[in-house]
Amino acid sequence: MMNGNRKYNFNSGPATLPDEVLQEAAAAVLNYKGTGISILEMGHRSKEYDAINDESRELVKELCGLNNDYEVLWMQGGGRLQFCMIPMNFLAENDTAGYIDSGHWAADALETAMHYGKVQILSSTRLHKYDRLPEWPSAISKELAYVHFTTNNTIYGTQYKHDPHCPVPLIADMSSDIFYAKRDYSRYAMFYAVAQKNLGPAGATVVVVHKDMLGRIKRDLPAMLNYKAHADKNSVLNTPPVFAVYVTLLMLRWMKAKGLETIEKENKHKAQILYNEIDRNSLFEGTVQQTADRSLMNACFVAKDKEHETHFLKFCEERDITGIKGHRLVGGFRAALYNGISVHAVEHLVAAMQEFENLNK
Ligand SMILES: *Cc1c(COP(=O)(O)O)cnc(C)c1O
Repeated sequence: MMNGNRKYNFNSGPATLPDEVLQEAAAAVLNYKGTGISILEMGHRSKEYDAINDESRELVKELCGLNNDYEVLWMQGGGRLQFCMIPMNFLAENDTAGYIDSGHWAADALETAMHYGKVQILSSTRLHKYDRLPEWPSAISKELAYVHFTTNNTIYGTQYKHDPHCPVPLIADMSSDIFYAKRDYSRYAMFYAVAQKNLGPAGATVVVVHKDMLGRIKRDLPAMLNYKAHADKNSVLNTPPVFAVYVTLLMLRWMKAKGLETIEKENKHKAQILYNEIDRNSLFEGTVQQTADRSLMNACFVAKDKEHETHFLKFCEERDITGIKGHRLVGGFRAALYNGISVHAVEHLVAAMQEFENLNK
């Protein structure tokens, strides 16, 4: 290991990256591939960045099993900017878009869309404080401009694990579970992910959009807010976040080398051992009401006895486990199980939970 002091970091975003990726990124900060300049100093119109930009976008398509009907864009502004740009580009003032209200980010997306057009909430579990997934709507009107949903609810720890059929363009926020497994990406007219969860560092957002969508933009928009303008300029409309895209490329190569099948198997294994422990351990309980809804990427749980909460956090810190404090909206604990988190790290957390139970029984 490069850094013997590295902790077991279960933070849900920005999140753990594999050692190999960090090592290569660190080397590129000092001297990018023998060019004598740092990646941080490198021009975005250089042949080096052209190569990074092209390879990264090709790898996204390859890992998704998509062909040239799709454009891959590197953007900035995080998930929040996508919440704005989707309705700006694809929702005319008198049109209606369908949104599934499955959590905090899903709700933020639909509230943002209301600035640009009409929104129909197709299903919601807001009244249950998002402790379960909304049912997938049985009938979706062909009149809708598009349907938007969040595949993985990072804060509440629920996840749609199937890729739905939809009679209108389907748009998904995959910020916290892109590449968690093999899936049918061709079902989507567009999907996007901020890098800082399952893909890389903060600062870059990947947008994958079917080319048909670029012909359906509803407004006259400034170039920076127009998907087609970004596509026409190969994602270098303005200065891209060169370093963030580069580190994401390293992560994409790492995922390709490992293979999505292996990643999927490992992710299922990590989730299984942690959820088994949450269910078995007498001191803890899961917060998601239906086991089938549980996320493979973010496991949320609480201490049955509130008093144990701060003790367990401290107990974890003493064992180099960090980042497991739950989101303020849910409380308790949340462990990210993203691709960069090893089976060993999860085993270490499970062992700490067992030890804590033995000491507090
Ligand atoms: C983190 C997250 C976002 C927000 O990302 P920002 O980069 O902070 O705007 C949006 N959607 C989901 C599902 C997320 O997990």
